[in-house]
Amino acid sequence: MSGPAGPVSWPEGKSSAASFSFDIDAESAVLWRAPQNAHRMSVISHQAYGPLVGVPRLLGLLDKHRIRSTFFVPGYTAHRYPSVVRDIVAAGHEIAHHGYLHEQPTGLSATEEAVALDRGLEALEEVAGVRPVGYRAPMWDLSWRTPALLAARDFLYDSSLMAADHPCELEVGPDAPRSVVEIPIQWALDDWEQFCFLPDISGSGLIETPAKARELWQAEFEGLRSVGGCWVLTNHPFLSGRPSRAHQLDELMGHVNSCADVWVASLEEIARHIRGLGLDPRSVEFPSGPEN
Ligand code: ZN
Repeated sequence: MSGPAGPVSWPEGKSSAASFSFDIDAESAVLWRAPQNAHRMSVISHQAYGPLVGVPRLLGLLDKHRIRSTFFVPGYTAHRYPSVVRDIVAAGHEIAHHGYLHEQPTGLSATEEAVALDRGLEALEEVAGVRPVGYRAPMWDLSWRTPALLAARDFLYDSSLMAADHPCELEVGPDAPRSVVEIPIQWALDDWEQFCFLPDISGSGLIETPAKARELWQAEFEGLRSVGGCWVLTNHPFLSGRPSRAHQLDELMGHVNSCADVWVASLEEIARHIRGLGLDPRSVEFPSGPEN
């Protein structure tokens, strides 16, 4: 960023914000650029646990705590599990964009990136009747052209960058007059690093305990709370939908909700609040120096 993003004001009575978000990657995360994984029945079943078992359990938790969440849904997941996606909408949660087949923008050409965005939009419209306002890059791997592609499609916000504790308006480039709201994330607040192990695909085989993950996430929560920041937890239903992990999430939701100074909201609600502040756009600058 050009200078650190400063603190922002939150709704009256609140001095920081928190959001529980979920990425329903399901099978898409193991199929992009690796269609041979479709032949591995156990791998597919590991991913299918998310929509089949995890999502219903997590919807119950969110309902119990009266938390409105954001679900990032690849278009392929919407086509494969339409009733699950409709259940999320019916429960009042936000549906946001997460590619079509979980394509990492940095692995795509400009044309391919635009096609993936448009295919994802079409799938969410077709299955859920939703036009998402939010985007999260698969693997949080934004390309330098993604913000302008999002602005051209009237997205309100992105949640894939890491250079701030507070949301900001992100400049999308000299040729695009608009900005997108950027809601920062970080790897310490993702359950993939704690729990994911798929032989030959992801992870080292070390799977952390739910208590350890909760300790890490709560420490980050208290840290961001102390600076008036925005805590965004990213969970995957195929991982955190398991009973032991959902139990810790239940406890964490209870703790976060008990903090009267913290605004617990969906990412769309947070983005609309930030847009309403009329902040000056900030830029992230391409590194100059060493030849690449
Ligand atoms: Zn993902």
